[in-house]
Amino acid sequence: EMAGGEKVDYVFKVVLIGDSAVGKSQILARFARNEFSIDSKATIGVEFQTRTLVIDHKSVKAQIWDTAGQERYRAVTSAYYRGALGALLVYDITKRQSFDHIPRWLDELRGHADKNIVIMLVGNKSDLEDERAVSTEDAKEFAEKENLFFLETSALQATNVENAFQTVLTEIFKIHS
Ligand code: GDP
Ligand code: MG
Repeated sequence: EMAGGEKVDYVFKVVLIGDSAVGKSQILARFARNEFSIDSKATIGVEFQTRTLVIDHKSVKAQIWDTAGQERYRAVTSAYYRGALGALLVYDITKRQSFDHIPRWLDELRGHADKNIVIMLVGNKSDLEDERAVSTEDAKEFAEKENLFFLETSALQATNVENAFQTVLTEIFKIHS
């Protein structure tokens, strides 16, 4: 496959999951286009965006899928997960409930996806420290117990978004190249 005249060595599908309004679409906008919008509309229709990066001298096209505003439990269809090699499992550090729902999302993900799927737990909106409702320690402990990577991000301030995707894609690359 060619992108902008360049050869693409690998295409890796990565899915974004987590409750509505945790910032999934803004994380994707930051990664794919380096954009952020304050009043992002709820995503309509399943869509993905791509960005091509170089890992270990190979061209890797990341195909990142965003939910279609179907974040109710079990409303995301199996087609969404099909072929995914990585996932960002996102909660909002200011919304306890979005963290409490993470085990459900993880079950759903593990029930549908590749058994080697690389999963990053992401606590988004780290810029809102004053409104924090989930401690970094709690999340870190959960991630260790479940064997997940873990980072706190801010799509608004562009903190750790690049790092989160790079980590997942590099790990996928190690497994599948
Ligand atoms: P989604 O439903 O998970 O896709 O969430 P959105 O990406 O649509 O974001 C929901 C709301 O949270 C929007 O008003 C965003 O502007 C806001 N938001 C997203 N990421 C951040 C962030 O890192 N910091 C802050 N303060 N707000 C954010
Ligand atoms: Mg969205």
